[in-house]
Amino acid sequence: MKADNKAARKAARQLTPPRELLADLVLANKILFGLKVVDAFGHISVRHPKDPNYFLMARHLPPGMVTAKDIVLFDMDSTPLTHSDKPQYSERFIHSEIYKLRPDVMSVVHNHAYSLIPFGAAKGARLRPMFHMCGFLGCGVPIFEIRKAGGNTDMLIRTAELGKALAESLGDKNVVLMRGHGATMIGNSIQESVFRSVYSMENASIQMQAHLLSDTGEVEFLNEEESDKSSRGRNVPRSWSLWKHQFSKAR
Ligand SMILES: [Zn+2]
Repeated sequence: MKADNKAARKAARQLTPPRELLADLVLANKILFGLKVVDAFGHISVRHPKDPNYFLMARHLPPGMVTAKDIVLFDMDSTPLTHSDKPQYSERFIHSEIYKLRPDVMSVVHNHAYSLIPFGAAKGARLRPMFHMCGFLGCGVPIFEIRKAGGNTDMLIRTAELGKALAESLGDKNVVLMRGHGATMIGNSIQESVFRSVYSMENASIQMQAHLLSDTGEVEFLNEEESDKSSRGRNVPRSWSLWKHQFSKAR
């Protein structure tokens, strides 16, 4: 869908994002790349703080190369209202459809982190919270099966229909695995969606090791109450402050 140019220009003028938010979004791209959550692929978005019907995300670039000048304003059809002459991520519908279905969500990350892939593919496997940094996984991690929504595809979420099916699969959870593809995480801020991306990936590696170490293959996970209690701490701001220190000068 092509945005009406006049309306697009007006929206873009009125929705100049706060400079701090832009800086955090750029930094988030660098953190996700620096910690190997994303490589040349993957993206992070944030809902616009002035109008919930818009979101911000980089144009079609590897996350490690994103600067503030590359941040695009999108509407909820994933139509770019700025940078519309440039290529955009084909999977931007992941973001718009989740924002539409989940008014509580302020930020979305999509990645292809290698350690998460087996948990979306192995029969009977479930990603579950191994330690106190991952209590956010305790409410359950659904697996999105794209064949049910779109038959045999190239696995990418290239349409609003597939994005909607993915958002429905996520439901009210924090993370959804995508069979044969990757994962998508949500948060109430850029900081929280980055935190959940990093620690979902770490949890997957640790869980795999624990299954291998166990005599029977069985593992003890955090229970529901432990997951809930361990999610309430100050893990997110403390992690963000370290990553900001570590990556704010990354080029
Ligand atoms: Zn993808």
